[in-house]
Parts: sequence; C-alpha cells; structure tokens
Amino acid sequence: MNADIENLPVGVFFEDINGTIKSCNKLYLKTLGLDEPVKGWREMVDLEDSESAQKEWDGARSGKKSWRIKCRLKKSNGNTIWVDIKANPLMDARGDLQGYMGVLTDITNQAMFERLLERFKKAVEKTDSQIVFTDAEGLVVFANDAVEKLTGFTSGEVVGTKAGKLWGGLMEVEFYKKLWQKIKIDKMPFDAEIINKKKNGETYFAQINITPILDSKGEVEFFVGIERDITYYKEMDKVKREFISVASHQLRTPLSSIKWLCELFWNGDLKGISSGQKEIVQKVQNENERLIKLVDSLLNISRIESGKIVIEPSLTDIPQLVEKVLSDYKESIKSKKQTVEVKFPVETPKLSVDSKLVGEALSNLISNAHKYTPVGGRLWVKGKVISNELIISVADNGIGIPVNDKRRIFEKFFRAENALLKQANGSGLGLYFVKWVAESHGGLVWFESTENVGTTFYMSLPLSTRHSWQKLIELSIK
Ligand code: ADP
Repeated sequence: MNADIENLPVGVFFEDINGTIKSCNKLYLKTLGLDEPVKGWREMVDLEDSESAQKEWDGARSGKKSWRIKCRLKKSNGNTIWVDIKANPLMDARGDLQGYMGVLTDITNQAMFERLLERFKKAVEKTDSQIVFTDAEGLVVFANDAVEKLTGFTSGEVVGTKAGKLWGGLMEVEFYKKLWQKIKIDKMPFDAEIINKKKNGETYFAQINITPILDSKGEVEFFVGIERDITYYKEMDKVKREFISVASHQLRTPLSSIKWLCELFWNGDLKGISSGQKEIVQKVQNENERLIKLVDSLLNISRIESGKIVIEPSLTDIPQLVEKVLSDYKESIKSKKQTVEVKFPVETPKLSVDSKLVGEALSNLISNAHKYTPVGGRLWVKGKVISNELIISVADNGIGIPVNDKRRIFEKFFRAENALLKQANGSGLGLYFVKWVAESHGGLVWFESTENVGTTFYMSLPLSTRHSWQKLIELSIK
C-alpha cells in the first residue's frame, strides 16, 4: 500500500467483488484488532446488524454503486465497536465492477453518545411529567407529549409562547413575581404547588419545578420546567383528612362515656366486687385513656389541617407547666424506676403562650422521653434563656433515633424502626403536633440523638412575642 494511504487518519481497504480484502492500511487492521487481513470486515459484523449490512452491500454491488454502512463489529478480542464504512466502486476499462475501495472509521464514542441522546430524547418525550424547555426569556422552545395530555394544548400551540401563559395565570401576581425573581435573578431552582387551567377550562393542581441552566459565564442559558398533575393526590389527601376528622369526632363521644362510666363505678358502692373485677375495670379505664389520647391527637391534627385551632395566649409560667405535666407521668415514671431532673433559671420569664397547646406539646416530649427510655433510665427537663428565646430541652438516655430515620421524625404517622420494635404504644402524631405548636408560636423544634445512647429534643419559644401579645390582651381588656 502506498505511503500516502498508509498515513491516512482512517482505515482504508480494497476488497474484491466477493468482499475479500485484497489490501489495507495499518489503521484498518488496528481498528479491527487484527494483525493480518485474515478476515474481511463483513465477517466481523455483529449479529444484530449483519442482515441490514448484508442487504446494503448486496444492493450496492448489484447496482455497481457506492455504499455506506454504519454497524457494530465484533473485534477479535471480543469487544464491540461502532464503525462508519464508506466505499466507492472500482471499475475496469469495460465498466465491470472489480471491487471496492473503502474507508472505515471507528465512531464508537459518537454512536454511544447519539444512542444515549436518542434514549434521553425518548424518555423526555414519553414521560408522564410535563417537560418544557424555554429560552432565557421564558419562551417555550420544546414541549414533550405530556404537555398535550395534561393541558390539552398541542406542542405546536405551546412552542413560541411564554411558558405557562396558556395554562397558568390563576395564582396571585406576587407568586409569579417571586418565581421569576428566584429563577432569573437568583438563578436558583423554584418548587411549588400551584393551580393551573387546561385548554377546556378545567383547573388542576400541579407540582412544578423550574431549574435555570447556566452557561460557562454563569448566565441563564435556558430553563427546564417540569410539571406533574397532583390533583388526584390532593383529593385523596382531602378525603383522608375528612375521614380522620369524622372518625375522631365520632369516637370521642363514646370514649368520654366509657370514661365517665368507669368513674361512676369507682365512686359507687364497691362492696361485693372482687379484686379481680376491679382489676378488669382498671384495665378498661387505662386502655380507654390510651384511646382518648390517640383520638385527641387525631383531633389535633385534623384541627391543625383545617386551620381550626385558635391560639389563645395567656401569661404562662413554663417551669410550673412542666411540673404539672410531669405530675401526670409521676406514677408511670416511678413504676419504671426512672429519675427526672428539672432545671430552670430562677428568673425564668413568663411567656405569653397558649398554655394548653404548649402544655400538650411538652407532655408529648416528656412522655416520649419516658416511653423510649428503658427501666432505670434518666430524664432531664431544662430551660435556658438565650438572647430573645426560652429554650426548653427534654433529654433522656433511652433507645435513641436511628440515623436513617432522623429526617422523617416530624412526619405525620412516622415511627422509627427501633421504636416500633420496642414500644407498641404510639401513633407517630406527637412530634408533628409539637412542631406545629412551636412554629405557630414563632419558635422551633429540633433534636440531637444517638441510637442506644439517648435523645434531646429542644423547643424554642420567643420571649418577644410576649410584648405584642400582651398588648393585644391589654387592648382587648380595655
Ligand atoms: P409516637 O406516638 O410514636 O411516640 P411521636 O410523633 O411522638 O409519636 O414520635 C415519633 C417517633 O419519634 C417515635 O415513634 C419514635 O420513633 C421517635 N421518638 C420520639 N421521641 C423519642 C425519644 N425521646 N427517643 C427515641 N425516639 C423517639
């Protein structure tokens, strides 16, 4: 082979009309992983592509035409590569086909990339979530199939319009301003639940995420918007909330009656009643109390979710409230042989809080510390004033919270793995309520925990609200 062809940056070969390689350059051999042209490229075509490659080759040969085949080859070491082969016919003086001169290029990287892109494109087009790409000004340049399924607007109607213009616009102007500020000015992703409207006028709930994609200079190049119809989940959530509300309201009355009947029993004439029978009534009463607590938790949740809890602040002595809560657990703590240490600064300022709600929140924290700490364990309830807040901590040396469960601990109905194993009694509603109480008073709740070592929950309550609420109370008295 002449030196010019030998040095070309592509594989070059000459084959006769039967496809036998007559000569080739080194790069051709190297690409196919061969030392000698013992086999032609056709014998190395991957099974998946052999039929189409053969067809193309046969067709070109019978028409004495040039051909181009992109296919996979199985190299002698077993690896598969993608090649692009182009060949031109070689004719003799009479115009008869003598063979072909071909050029073979390894396009494995490019083919892989194209296939990946193709798959990515299919995934984007076919996914159930609505995906929209816009330019930096928010004009839609691409909309996938789900856009039409969800909104009723065809891709043709959507491309070229401002994103969401056709199906959005139902939220407050402020909302869209915030959205634009976040994605365009702050260049940060934006997530929200919103209400949109379909082409037929029907409204739906959507979960949206809009992410700005930045260029190398940090400027917005384009936006990717993903939208999911969550109407069904919203409706299910509403049904669930209504169910909890109805069930807990309906359960509360008979439970109160049982409580009342048990009390009547204890207050009545107990002569002639065996100790075994008394024990049974005591058990009924205890189990009834547990049920009442559970139903009260459910009622609290349903009130929170329907916005029906009213906060009624009054000046409250928190250390006193803690003592009151602890007295409810005195017997139970004693029977578990646990010790409790309470420490508040002497001059703890009174806070203007809803004492019933804060008392219930403290009760949840203290009962958890007691419940999740084994016999003989220790509990601490402390208070500290830091800048403008009272930080109450409830600590124990109990079972702790496993690392993997920590992020879900404030979720409704969530109970950690170890708690489920060791303590059947629990609903997973207490901390959700505590968080709501703390936050609705302008405070926070957080915790530190190590499994099998112990847990400390902290609840902060601002001192400053005291002044504003105090004013409100004074005003209402006047
Ligand atoms: P529950 O009725 O299950 O106690 P909570 O909402 O009060 O519900 O608490 C949620 C979960 O948090 C518990 O099930 C338990 O896994 C974990 N947890 C709360 N307090 C403690 C604690 N002091 N020690 C260990 N785990 C705790």
